Amino acid sequence: MAIRNDRLSTDEYAENFSDIHPPFDTREAALVEANRCLFCYDAPCIKSCPTSINIPKFIKQITTDNVKGSAYTILDANIMGGGCSKVCPVEKLCEGSCVYNLLNEPPIPIAKLQRYSTEKAIEQQWPLFIRKPVVNKKVAVVGAGPAGLSCAHVLSREGIDVTIFEKESKGGGLMTYGIAAYKVTPQFCEDEVNFITSLGGINIKYDQQLGRNVTLSQLQAEYDAVFLGIGVGLARQLEIPGEHLEGVEDAIEFIYDIRTKGYPAIPVGDRVAVIGLGMTAIDAATQAKRLGAKDVTIVYRRTQAEMPSTEVELNLAKLDGCGVIWLASPKEIRGENGKVTQLICNVMELGLPDNSGRRWPVETGETITLDVDMVIKAAGQIPFEELVNSNRLDHAKGKLLINDDCSTNIKGVFAGGDCVNGGKEVVDAVQAGKDGAKAILGFIKSERAKE
Ligand code: SF4
Repeated sequence: MAIRNDRLSTDEYAENFSDIHPPFDTREAALVEANRCLFCYDAPCIKSCPTSINIPKFIKQITTDNVKGSAYTILDANIMGGGCSKVCPVEKLCEGSCVYNLLNEPPIPIAKLQRYSTEKAIEQQWPLFIRKPVVNKKVAVVGAGPAGLSCAHVLSREGIDVTIFEKESKGGGLMTYGIAAYKVTPQFCEDEVNFITSLGGINIKYDQQLGRNVTLSQLQAEYDAVFLGIGVGLARQLEIPGEHLEGVEDAIEFIYDIRTKGYPAIPVGDRVAVIGLGMTAIDAATQAKRLGAKDVTIVYRRTQAEMPSTEVELNLAKLDGCGVIWLASPKEIRGENGKVTQLICNVMELGLPDNSGRRWPVETGETITLDVDMVIKAAGQIPFEELVNSNRLDHAKGKLLINDDCSTNIKGVFAGGDCVNGGKEVVDAVQAGKDGAKAILGFIKSERAKE
């Protein structure tokens, strides 16, 4: 058994990482699906979209070949509607609530139709939005992820100059660095960021980390308001023996490397265990398999009923040949010569429900042993507790506490997205950015009234 890179040919990498949700082959195919829409009154699909995209409206616009109008309808509500059409778990959002499900018929492929319009807009960089006249106010946004970009776009449309401070060398946040490459390509992410900033009035400063290259007090002094969209970025450690052996990796780092270094450069084992069963775990497991791992096993301490990933995601992993061991919790990682060789897991069972009604896994006293040469940890992320603490921001275990108007405990500092909710979908972060922008506009207006 060995961890090694460059396992496959160029063609095999290209095939394994090609678009998992291909677009419509033809305009006619898109029109056939668009024309199935019932354009429901009080459409449930709109209510299930966190950004409230007017879905029947944009689908209607597609039926009349008004692709530009359709793209505007989508992007006006969700400036990252292009990326969301590729990464949203639509089975539990818009498509999951389409009335066709009640008729036991396939729902309208909303994401595919959304992609049909937005991809053209982004590819061809259509100038769909115009800025209002500049109002001589400036806002600092920390983080060029979905929340920060969405906030910046809304503010810039209102004539406010925005500077985004981003710790990475590219924008897009989770979309660019944290999602499987077969769902959304690095090139698309770059195009999407360029599309957003093409509005004007948004300047992204890269390699600028809060607390290292720039401080919150500097931003407060130089800008009229600050929006924090810093996400959650630290991988949760397992706190078990052997965690530091060679061959034990964080899923976030693994996915990040795949997207930044290229497929052949990424070492992968023959027998890989992935710990956890959220979207990141699935993305890590499927990509390990697609990089050429022979055997990938997902280890999860609860049952399928409690898993955080959707059934669609789980099936994707299974179709890729990944196995799942339910009710197993990592106890120890063993190695030889400093390299991982085994993962020992406690066999669990679900205990009685607690006050919240949730059944927690408890040890049965039995263990199982997996022979592995790589362990990928995807046991969730923890917020930047030290960072928020050092900036005297109110928080709960690192998650920023905000008021109804997205304001933090520091005047003029607002926040939204994963750094507040602990990590939800991209589309939730986009809405949080919109909410933050709305609150900042109100704040600037009230401050101006005092001048
Ligand atoms: Fe169309 Fe389905 Fe939405 Fe109704 S629920 S408007 S059929 S997409």
